[in-house]
Amino acid sequence: IGDTILEMLKEEISEVEYNRYVKQMSFLSKASRSDLAVFEVPNPLIASWIKNRYASKIAHLFEIKTGTGREVNIRVKKAKGVAGKSGPAATVAPSEGPKHSMLNPAYTFENFVAGSSNQFAYAAAKSVSERPGQVYNPLFIYGGVGLGKTHLMQAIGNVMLLQGKTVVYTSVEQFVNDFTRHLRNQTMDRFKEKYRQCDLLLIDDVQFLSNKIQTQEEFFHTFETLRSEGKQIVLTSDKPPKRIAGLEARLQSRFEWGLVADIQPPELETKIAIIKKKCEINRVILGDDVVNYIATVIDNNTREIEGILSKLHAYSQLMHQEITLDFAKNALREQLQEKSDNISIDGIMKTIAKELNVKPSEIRSKSRSRNIVAARRVAIYLARELTPMSMPQIAQYFGMKDHSTVSHTMKKIHQLLEEDENFKVKINELHNKITAMPPET
Ligand code: ADP
Ligand code: MG
Repeated sequence: IGDTILEMLKEEISEVEYNRYVKQMSFLSKASRSDLAVFEVPNPLIASWIKNRYASKIAHLFEIKTGTGREVNIRVKKAKGVAGKSGPAATVAPSEGPKHSMLNPAYTFENFVAGSSNQFAYAAAKSVSERPGQVYNPLFIYGGVGLGKTHLMQAIGNVMLLQGKTVVYTSVEQFVNDFTRHLRNQTMDRFKEKYRQCDLLLIDDVQFLSNKIQTQEEFFHTFETLRSEGKQIVLTSDKPPKRIAGLEARLQSRFEWGLVADIQPPELETKIAIIKKKCEINRVILGDDVVNYIATVIDNNTREIEGILSKLHAYSQLMHQEITLDFAKNALREQLQEKSDNISIDGIMKTIAKELNVKPSEIRSKSRSRNIVAARRVAIYLARELTPMSMPQIAQYFGMKDHSTVSHTMKKIHQLLEEDENFKVKINELHNKITAMPPET
């Protein structure tokens, strides 16, 4: 069965990923429980990579294939000859597993790097974990993809779990699935028991409540019950409550009752510290030059870090080479290249036009009006940063007679980035929006 599942997984992911990671998994036919599926992999990095990317998919495939979900356990194969030394197991629970195993045990406060970009949310989460239900209820954390929202929220959960409290972690999607299933099976009392009788309810990515009227209704009652009993609620979202379209007013106001804390993209120093932390956790040794390199090439989405580390680690094992800067550059070239291949100047123009509220044609015109000039400068800068276009090519695109304006603009923007923190944040946001866009087809 395990092999069938892996075959099914093959259909869902790219061949490269399959060959590089999934092929290294072997299914253990005898597990200690029938609702458990154990796979072995060669090292902790691959384990964590597979866990993050595929464990819930695998659990789901088991459900499709056998009708019952399984807890998926990715284990590190014991090295031959080294007695009793194996890496930490990485576990993800299926949809109906024991409540606590829904949390990632690595998402702790100790493993979270606090820096000025996330300091506020971090401090808020910390104090909620110390005095649940008493300080900020609900705690609402919002910010872009990969900035650590889930990690922080689960850190609160992990603290409370250790104190023997009942913690429920769920996504809006799963909340909806649970709700409809229990409704259909007429087991709503079990649904209510699960969500209303816990000490801490963690709901991830509530922006997906948008326009789901019936779910919002149910969620509202869950919320009211828990809050009236002084039970802690923590929510995350990619945007603040008032910007979630199609969210009932009463929910919006309740989301704002406690504390709304945002997480900003990390500054370079924080990124470096996060990479070092991840190295430590995953037992990868990298020189400072490699760490700095990774910090400057990744975008603000810290989610990439683990993928990059596991790739470096896997490559270095495969090729019996140490991870030097050159080695890292080579190993990551393909990945970084792929990214920049997908970015075109038209994509950049579209995003900037939308975000800064001007028309692409205006950006390319000769207009000297202030906001258009500003948009044009940003477009020039990002085109240079994100595409392989040369300065003369960019000048030509914007109908300029030579590249001196482009070069002048680059200098100007670099200077602004150094002087103006707000400007830097804005540019970062645009940068992220552009690199997060799906490739144009
Ligand atoms: P989000 O939920 O905001 O999309 P996640 O919480 O899933 O982001 O974080 C993505 C990855 O980045 C996780 O592996 C997480 O541990 C890591 N991460 C993000 N921010 C930090 C941080 N400040 N310190 C340590 N790890 C972080
Ligand atoms: Mg998340």
